[in-house]
Amino acid sequence: MSKKESEKKLSFQTRAVHEGNAIDSETGAIQHPITMANSYVLPYDPTDVNWSSASGNIYTRNGGANQKYLQEKIASLEGGEDCVVLASGVAALSGLFFALLESGDHVIFSSVTYIAVYRLLNELFNHKFKVETTIVDTSDIEAVRAAIRPNTKLIHIETPGNPTLGITDISALAELAHENNILLSVDNTFASPYNQRPIELGADFTVESLTKYINGHGDAMGGAIIGKTEYLDIIRAQSQVNLGATISPFNAWLIMRGSVTLPLRMKQHNENALKIAQWLEQQPGVSFVAYPGLESSKGHEIAKKQMSNGFGGVLSFGLKADHETHNQFVSKLNIITSAVSLGHDGTLIVFIGENDERQYLYPEEFHNGFFRLSVGLEDTQDLIDDLENALNQIGL
Ligand SMILES: *Cc1c(COP(=O)(O)O)cnc(C)c1O
Repeated sequence: MSKKESEKKLSFQTRAVHEGNAIDSETGAIQHPITMANSYVLPYDPTDVNWSSASGNIYTRNGGANQKYLQEKIASLEGGEDCVVLASGVAALSGLFFALLESGDHVIFSSVTYIAVYRLLNELFNHKFKVETTIVDTSDIEAVRAAIRPNTKLIHIETPGNPTLGITDISALAELAHENNILLSVDNTFASPYNQRPIELGADFTVESLTKYINGHGDAMGGAIIGKTEYLDIIRAQSQVNLGATISPFNAWLIMRGSVTLPLRMKQHNENALKIAQWLEQQPGVSFVAYPGLESSKGHEIAKKQMSNGFGGVLSFGLKADHETHNQFVSKLNIITSAVSLGHDGTLIVFIGENDERQYLYPEEFHNGFFRLSVGLEDTQDLIDDLENALNQIGL
């Protein structure tokens, strides 16, 4: 049986443990070592070496050993042909846009995306490189159809979206994109490949921050693009060799280790977040809860169809309170930490105020300010008690 054939039979959980790892041929160690060297020995006659190649071992900015092991694993978990791992999620997003877009091209992207996508496409690519951009509520397929132009090259979406948890139908959008010769990229950071695999649903590219669920412990940054080698080879060369967004070997190694427990952690994140969302919905002081696992959520039916194991660990909610009271609430939390980022072992909360510049792109209930809560791996009841205690202390 070839490696490829045997791989197909192994489940996600088994591949999360074994993919990309092997016995070290020099020492017999049962884990790949960290290769921190930044340079590799040259052949007898180096004059034919392509110094800009990202395929061989030349110089670590062109690509390193630990990065390659991690790429094998992420490609397998996301169900894609190939993967490029870079220094951060934003390096992955900018690498994809930089490789695909040319002056005169048009891009459609979701009204709810990570802030760097908004800055890159709406402020940098269009002003500096004359790329046309349209922001659309991509949960509305007809609105996307209406925004398509003859020069539309790419549709970029996030589902669930950060921070509104809005859901876009990936397979419906892939069909629409491909009918019109357009590429579709999906930011899968919030779901992780355990819950959702966009390429299997028809997307051309999955992009994600490895800093979040895949590493899972809040101690390393990385990003990945998954898709066809014909595109990824371009990204590899541009983003690493010429733009310098290479991941450090140590971070690649840390993320490789963190990713082993991805399926186990996601089970707990999914379960905790659903219970907390259901509990918050019952509290009289809570103005709204956004979580695709709630039956009351607008995107619930589509989320059920495309998210196979659960709805992730992030939710947003608001309080029936003013700006100052939102800050007071956070100050009363004991287990939950006020910090950005998400997908960590510990639960994190961030208050996004009513003066946020992108508030106008969010649904109405978000306009008075809201919290984004990244539910961690703690005991569910301890987390609910922490939230309940803080609500009591501010009189809600
Ligand atoms: C955090 C995040 C990113 C950016 O990832 P970094 O690793 O912080 O650069 C991109 N997309 C989403 C949805 C994110 O939450």
